[in-house]
Amino acid sequence: MTDLERRAAAIFGKGDAGILWPYDVSGIDHTLARTDPAAYAQKLAVLTTKRYTIVEWAEHHGLKKSSVKCCPLWLTRTTSRRCRWDSDCQRRIHPDRPWLDHHIYWLKDGKPAAITSAPYEISTKDQERLAWWRQQHRTLRVDQDEGWYGYDTTQIVMWNKAHISYVGPAKNIDRPETFLPRHD
Ligand SMILES: [Zn+2]
Repeated sequence: MTDLERRAAAIFGKGDAGILWPYDVSGIDHTLARTDPAAYAQKLAVLTTKRYTIVEWAEHHGLKKSSVKCCPLWLTRTTSRRCRWDSDCQRRIHPDRPWLDHHIYWLKDGKPAAITSAPYEISTKDQERLAWWRQQHRTLRVDQDEGWYGYDTTQIVMWNKAHISYVGPAKNIDRPETFLPRHD
């Protein structure tokens, strides 16, 4: 295992096929290495950048990925539990669905601490919904920035101040160029 994989295993866990990377940074098409080596090198550099970003962000905040996820109500609980099967959030059409695209739920010391997502667009309705959550639960906080997903998405971070004081959005501070093979 590489150093990055060891650190990632502590955050995402490990299965028979290796690190359980979340969908956002799950991998790339390895057949490209044969068919289009230049494109492969570029994609691998981008993936490596994203993986470093997500691992360093999680380590910085002391977060681990939760296997249990539901909706922002999850954040308001002291144990990592879903809502009941007949709750509003279990419906296919629900006001939180659009902004919760590419969501990951995060634990701090075993407690629900943060939710990250990466929607392609954030509509006025989404902004209203996020404001609604902050009104309903005074300890919920929201911030947004670049994140790690890419593809012109915006990262939304929602956290519960009662469980973790601050969780900032991630920034792709390391550029993919860093991870591209050099030719000098
Ligand atoms: Zn729920």
